[in-house]
Amino acid sequence: MENLSAILYLVAAVLFILALKGLSSPTSAIQGNRYGMLGMLIAVVTTFLIMDKPVLALIAGAIVAGGAIGAWKAKTVEMTGMPELVAAMHSLVGLSAVLIAVAAIFHSGVEHTGVQKIELFIGAFIGAITFTASVVAYGKLSGKFGAKAVNFGGQHLLNLVLALAMVGFGVLYFLSDSHAAFLMMVAIALVLGVTLIIPIGGADMPVVVSMLNSYSGWAAAGIGFTLNNPVLIIAGACVGSSGAILSYIMCKAMNRSIVSVLLGGFGAEVASGGAAASGPKNYKSGSAEDAAFLMGNADSVIIVPGYGLAVSRAQHALQEFAELLHEKGVNVRYAIHPVAGRMPGHMNVLLAEAEVPYERVQEMEEINSDFANTDVVLVIGANDVVNPAAQKDKSSPIYGMPILEAHKARTVIVVKRSMSVGYAGLDNELFYMDKTMMVFGDAKKVVEDLVKGGGH
Ligand code: NDP
Repeated sequence: MENLSAILYLVAAVLFILALKGLSSPTSAIQGNRYGMLGMLIAVVTTFLIMDKPVLALIAGAIVAGGAIGAWKAKTVEMTGMPELVAAMHSLVGLSAVLIAVAAIFHSGVEHTGVQKIELFIGAFIGAITFTASVVAYGKLSGKFGAKAVNFGGQHLLNLVLALAMVGFGVLYFLSDSHAAFLMMVAIALVLGVTLIIPIGGADMPVVVSMLNSYSGWAAAGIGFTLNNPVLIIAGACVGSSGAILSYIMCKAMNRSIVSVLLGGFGAEVASGGAAASGPKNYKSGSAEDAAFLMGNADSVIIVPGYGLAVSRAQHALQEFAELLHEKGVNVRYAIHPVAGRMPGHMNVLLAEAEVPYERVQEMEEINSDFANTDVVLVIGANDVVNPAAQKDKSSPIYGMPILEAHKARTVIVVKRSMSVGYAGLDNELFYMDKTMMVFGDAKKVVEDLVKGGGH
């Protein structure tokens, strides 16, 4: 049985790796998901088979209840609500790591070796930080706590003191086997999870989400050692390392340093300047018909989709409009910013859903130099990702974040409902430029009107 389970675990692990590989491209993502599901099925069934004293009724009950809630959530969640759902799920991974570690510590009659104690320590503290940090991230992303950064003097010092105290109690537990020391360590880690995340403002949340993803993986891997379960170690390590790589890529995309992300509060040094507009400013607005006319007579159009496109589900109508332009001989392309929307890859998924041809979808680095030679840019439900303050205003919280250089095009059309700010809470100079025309309204309604206008 032992050999068989080892082989089955190996198969599951290979399937997890294939799943990750599949998920790296939109064309193979569905197949990747299938590999992942099959791997998980094999892992769960194998674990059932090798359990010593199967408390089957309890576990089956938990699986049915958890599976039902998961299936219901997956069916009902809006695409735009995905990041907060992911954050909520990470919190559960963290919490279960803590609970397993505490249960293992209090399991009477079990002596833990030195190595096991270190594993328990690592699994529990990463799990505890992941738990509370994910709850705060969930609150920020869902708008329940307010997305603004919370900053106070001595914040980094406080985090350092907490981290040292946490390690101190961990060492005490290691040396004395004291349960109280272990619980103190967990309690401090829970607080640290909160203090690490509160200084991080809205615009930096994408990095936080992927970082927590990584943490939850490492917590699972740590607990895999405690439970002596190789597939949990492998799956946890896959999640941990892929999350870390994703965090690194996102940091690069947003021009942030990964070290300061890991230490928390990396956006904190810059003042929240640039947020308020200085007095009333002038802008031009026009109708969907005007916009359709401008684009219908252009040689080249770049569409910049953002969060508003996702909320109003305008992607299908947008593709229809782009097709009309294409038929008229207009060179239409989509420009994707790595953090447009509310989760990594959000826009790619939406556009793929609307069956936009892949070759018309271009990433920021590929397309940024083309804006200057483009007739019209259609910014639709996007704001922060086209905010020139990121390049020009040193006091802006998003200073240094790469943007799509929509402001360089000959004409800019911006579709949104009002002049209000985007996720980072900042005004956007692009809206007030002479060459910019605002078209107010819900993205879907406006695009449907564009289609009616037909780009004539
Ligand atoms: P923003 O949130 O900056 O702007 C979206 C704009 O869409 C708003 O200004 C809003 O203006 C408009 N809008 C909202 N609803 C509608 C609607 N129904 N119809 C038309 N317009 C609408 O989005 P971006 O995509 O430009 O930038 C993403 C932001 O989210 C960045 O700050 C990023 O850091 C952050 N983020 C990204 C994550 C990711 O992984 N991609 C995760 C978490 C946060 P109005 O209200 O006037 O309509």
